[in-house]
Amino acid sequence: MNRQQQMLDEISMDAELTAEMTGRSAFSPDTMEAMASVPRNQFVPEELLAQAYYNIPLPIGHGQTISQPYMVALMTDLLDPKPEYNCLEVGTGSGYQAAVLSRLVKKVYSVEINPVLHLQAKARLERLNFNNIDCILGGEKLGFIEHAPYDGILVTAAADQIPPALIDQLTNGGRMLIPVGPQHLGQTLYLVDKNKQGKVNKKPLLAVRFVPLLPVKESSGREPG
Ligand code: SAH
Repeated sequence: MNRQQQMLDEISMDAELTAEMTGRSAFSPDTMEAMASVPRNQFVPEELLAQAYYNIPLPIGHGQTISQPYMVALMTDLLDPKPEYNCLEVGTGSGYQAAVLSRLVKKVYSVEINPVLHLQAKARLERLNFNNIDCILGGEKLGFIEHAPYDGILVTAAADQIPPALIDQLTNGGRMLIPVGPQHLGQTLYLVDKNKQGKVNKKPLLAVRFVPLLPVKESSGREPG
């Protein structure tokens, strides 16, 4: 069996093992197809190529990491992506999560605060012909207000609390996945649902480990909720 198929099998096994927390014992065929269609070996540093299809996070430089494939599949699946969706990712990193999500939705805006990682990911995604992803250099405000609201938001760095500024960027009926909590105490992946009336429900799912979400220049100006 090739290494990529093994990675996909491990993701399916992890999905089963975490079903009690996530509410999903298997990811949708669409999610698994998206995972199969994105060449992770194009998103990892050359010296780590041999590990590209291991189900583990890997360093990508600048103190950042490309997420564990299972986590990418889980967050993608829990978003319940639909072909007409307008989505936001906070934390482009290597561009891998954006690439996977882009297979399942109309448009992905992906914001990155590190200028070097931003440029690398942008060039990589263009070279690989991911034409429905816009990479944005962030740092002024959290998220990307210009194209809000979004049907789905994935945050791939851990926040201290769920930022009101990102809840504001969700459509009514939209959904966000976000890791919350300080690095030394451990973090929890939250599923944040905004219903048709705009009422927000925050559901803690399972323990995760992400790099911290870095502060932007301009906070939302509101008290954290
Ligand atoms: N999704 C990425 C992994 C993300 S690692 C992948 O698939 O490879 C988290 C990334 O979030 C890092 O690259 C980090 O620089 C970025 N980041 C941290 N704080 C941020 C912020 N406030 N806005 C945008 N990006 C941020």
